[in-house]
Amino acid sequence: MLIGLLREKDDSRVAPVPAGLEKLQKMGLSFLVEKGAGATAFFDDESYSPFAELFDRKSVLSRADLLLSIHPVPEFEWQDIKKGATLVSEFQPFFHTQIATELQKAGFIAFSLDMIPRTTIAQSMDILSSMASIAGYKSVLLAASEMPRFFPMMITAAGSIKPARVLVLGAGVAGLQAIATARRLGAMVEAFDTRAAAKEEVESLGGKFVEVEGAKDDTAAGGYAVEQSEEFLQRQRAEVQNRAIKADVVITTAQVRGRKAPILLPTETVEQMKPGSIIIDLAASTGGNCELTKDKQVIVHHNGVKIIGDSNLSARMPQDASVLYNNNIVNYFNTLIKDGQLNNDAGNEIISGSMITTNSEPTA
Ligand code: NAD
Repeated sequence: MLIGLLREKDDSRVAPVPAGLEKLQKMGLSFLVEKGAGATAFFDDESYSPFAELFDRKSVLSRADLLLSIHPVPEFEWQDIKKGATLVSEFQPFFHTQIATELQKAGFIAFSLDMIPRTTIAQSMDILSSMASIAGYKSVLLAASEMPRFFPMMITAAGSIKPARVLVLGAGVAGLQAIATARRLGAMVEAFDTRAAAKEEVESLGGKFVEVEGAKDDTAAGGYAVEQSEEFLQRQRAEVQNRAIKADVVITTAQVRGRKAPILLPTETVEQMKPGSIIIDLAASTGGNCELTKDKQVIVHHNGVKIIGDSNLSARMPQDASVLYNNNIVNYFNTLIKDGQLNNDAGNEIISGSMITTNSEPTA
């Protein structure tokens, strides 16, 4: 089976990296790589050449049996893809609700990397967790470099500086990594999440958990948050507002799968924050947790609070992000590929969970 690896158009990561191709070759796969695919992640064409043939984009699109890319191939290029090819990407069908139908119509078989079930057995394939962890780390470094103040407490001959106060909203994978990183840099960290289990995790990292009584139980939701009542959200907003106006940095990561991100920092909260404070909104691509967030933009509010909206911070650490993404893909392919071909085992929950088209004939 001939696998085509594409260069990302608007992202500095690449996956797999050359070491991954070497492993994938042992599964009976061969590779075409688009020239320059790894350049922005510091994997040059030469490092791919022992394991792949390098071609221009059109050749890779038209020849590969299976196309791999982090972001989906844009629709205007579908006409260049080999008929009946398999596409493996982050299609995000929860947000792009028509994508599966459109791919099916066009006659492709599609697997969505963000739909791999988040079960214990599939943990090593979980691109959402790997990338969220990097984003959490990077969000703190970004905040520290943008903030006009120190993170740690400083005692100097010229006087003492208090440690920064960091508030993390949403203590999932990204939030927990942000807490750990901010603690390492010496900040005082508070965090909030609607999931009850988060309290212990926050405290184990040295953070203080902001408690709001009365959240809906989420133990049956498979690791995801559930939607909360309006009354609870109001009390939560009030508590979050109290903490945010005292914070130097607020990092927001709160998401509810398939829905717009909850607003946790309304404009009136931002208005009361200290000038020079930083908000990093990792939920920007699904609307943002801060009312003022604009995705992929930096906004300086009139009171001097800077709001950075970026849901793709892992792309700002492209080399390690690519290595982890690569490992997730290699682990996934151990299940997806059998004897050098697609594994047709529909009873396998990893395959059925991530496959977003069906095996039927194209409808157009
Ligand atoms: P996510 O990115 O969907 O959401 C981030 C966090 O925001 C979550 O912790 C969520 O509870 C929180 N949140 C949602 N609404 C909120 C609100 N109104 N206020 C405050 N916080 C809110 O989630 P994630 O980080 O990808 O994963 C969440 C949890 O799922 C993780 O902590 C992890 O324990 C679990 N998980 C398990 C597996 C596995 O078993 N393989 C894999 C991944 C994640």
